[in-house]
Amino acid sequence: MLDRLGTGLKDAVKKLAGKTVIDRAAVEELVKDLQRVLLQADVNVKLVMNLSKAIKKRSLEEEPPKGMSVREHVLRIVYQELVNLMGDEVTVTLGPQIILMAGLQGSGKTTTTGKLARYFQRKGLRVGVICADVFRPGAYDQLKNLCNKVNVPCYGEPGVTDAVKIVENGIRELKNTEVLIIDTQGRHALEDDLISEIIDLNNLTKATHRWLVIDAALGQQAKEQAARFHEAISIDGVIITKMDGTAKGGGALSAVAETGSGIVFTGSGETIEDLERFDPDSFISRLLG
Ligand code: GDP
Repeated sequence: MLDRLGTGLKDAVKKLAGKTVIDRAAVEELVKDLQRVLLQADVNVKLVMNLSKAIKKRSLEEEPPKGMSVREHVLRIVYQELVNLMGDEVTVTLGPQIILMAGLQGSGKTTTTGKLARYFQRKGLRVGVICADVFRPGAYDQLKNLCNKVNVPCYGEPGVTDAVKIVENGIRELKNTEVLIIDTQGRHALEDDLISEIIDLNNLTKATHRWLVIDAALGQQAKEQAARFHEAISIDGVIITKMDGTAKGGGALSAVAETGSGIVFTGSGETIEDLERFDPDSFISRLLG
């Protein structure tokens, strides 16, 4: 844990070494360094400020547990507060469920739908996928190709524009599946009809989960997107894609805060296997690295 915090905060952490009492100046310096690193990683300013306040307060007020050095004590607080920033742990149930995918175009929603199908299939569940992306030409073929690779049935009606009808038909066609994943349309912007359509789909399917897909490279816009989708369908998990790129993913944390949920999975490549369950430790080390 301490090593993970070390990289980005090396100098500040060094200054805490050998201290026997908590020193306000050293804590402030550490917090300042932490702020710089988090802002560079695209974490929202308000989140950074709240985190700083909590770290300062706890470091100065809480007594280090017996046998723990001042340095370890402060770093433990920093680590705990960073974990807090990642939101709640999201459990993934391995049983019957309907998952509604939300997100803007280009976020990686279709690819992630295929990856999730593969994930649940590997867990021994019968999976089916519905393409309700009626906006992007080629969305059905893309999803179908992904699903074909792993023999997962994919329902779609290319050319039809009524997403609700497609999903109704899809549910009927795929009634023998345990996990049903619905890829919805994305747009370049949060248009009203996009939002009203996903509300209709959520009402129709009574989805077990409504997961929001966010590109790791998305900065401050993540907050607005998350707010809008959350207001519409109550997002209960965030998936961060393109973690194999250079972005540190800090912007996506606004989506987590905005929805009061947590990160379910991260995506790290274009193939159907490139999906991982969220791991706070590696995410933190990436944010600070
Ligand atoms: P959608 O419009 O949200 O459905 O987005 P797509 O699933 O079509 O993805 C947009 C682009 O991002 C495609 O070229 C995908 O191959 C790519 N992509 C999706 N997820 C990842 C990822 O985790 N890593 C990388 N490197 N590329 C990804």
